[in-house]
Amino acid sequence: MTGLKKTIIRSGLETLYFSGAHHLMRPFVGGIGVILTLHHVRPPRPERFQPNRLLEVTPDFLDGVLSWLRRADVDLVSLDEMWRRLSESDVGRRFVTLTIDDGYRDTLQWAHPVFKKHDVPFAVYIPTSFPDRLGELWWLVLEAVIGRNESVSLLVDGKERSFECADVPEKRRLFDELYLWLRSFKTEQELRDVIRDLAGRYRVDISTFCDELCMNWDELNQLAADRLVTIGAHTVNHVMLAKVPERSARAEMEMSRSVIEASLGLRPDHLSYPVGDATSARPREFRLAAELGFKTAATTRPGVLFPEHRDYLTALPRVSLNGEHQQLRYVRVLISGAATAVWNGFRRVDAA
Ligand SMILES: [Zn+2]
Repeated sequence: MTGLKKTIIRSGLETLYFSGAHHLMRPFVGGIGVILTLHHVRPPRPERFQPNRLLEVTPDFLDGVLSWLRRADVDLVSLDEMWRRLSESDVGRRFVTLTIDDGYRDTLQWAHPVFKKHDVPFAVYIPTSFPDRLGELWWLVLEAVIGRNESVSLLVDGKERSFECADVPEKRRLFDELYLWLRSFKTEQELRDVIRDLAGRYRVDISTFCDELCMNWDELNQLAADRLVTIGAHTVNHVMLAKVPERSARAEMEMSRSVIEASLGLRPDHLSYPVGDATSARPREFRLAAELGFKTAATTRPGVLFPEHRDYLTALPRVSLNGEHQQLRYVRVLISGAATAVWNGFRRVDAA
């Protein structure tokens, strides 16, 4: 994320908090509940170049959030209970549902003990190629290539281009630029081709990221045995579903559920869309998830839940606990619904 965008988000959250506006707005924008999104939960790392840091929070921060939620006037509920409340319009008490995407090993090592300590249910969405050790964590390949080299060459629109990235500010700038460029591709295949080309040129072994960072099936079994844990599907190959043909999108969702069922002996009723923004999950995907019988499917479109989401159970918004903004006061503003209401122009449902 660019520095300017980070500053705008932070100052917006600060304004809503310190003005007290999030309290005044809550009856109108707070909705009936919130789904929170996490990725990595692990201790802070010393590296200065951490372009994916927004995807991680510390165990202490999670501990603080759960302590506060336990004292707040909300119910902490599983995905199944959230689905029941939404579909039965049982909206008397506000609720929060916690979710973790991708199945990193730190979910088991660092997050799970914190959830157990507070007796809070949570869901983990698994892209099955990660425990199968075939996953391509392409955003980490990009980080490694830029982090380990002083300049990077690659093919841009068929032409060989070279970029300097000797110091940390240059690395950050180049990461942002290339990340935005990769995300602008119309197809997932184009993105993967560039990443494989970069990994080959700079000798980054894509497969090591799964081994190092993601739970294997034994670890997932261990996690899934806890009554607090719901295992959800997150496709096979962690693809931006809107950027693949319909039959592939359907197969990605359906296969991931079958592979989890075969490996863990449980059939996921819930799905989250990889990347999950409006370029990755669109009405076609919302329809496919419903046709395949998923009870709910979560995007990363920001927002809280309203009674109207009963009719959009496979297009649910979430609120991300962003590692760049690890302050309890920001979480309070986000959960109040005030920040996302402002970002969404006070529109309650965004499923287009
Ligand atoms: Zn993901």
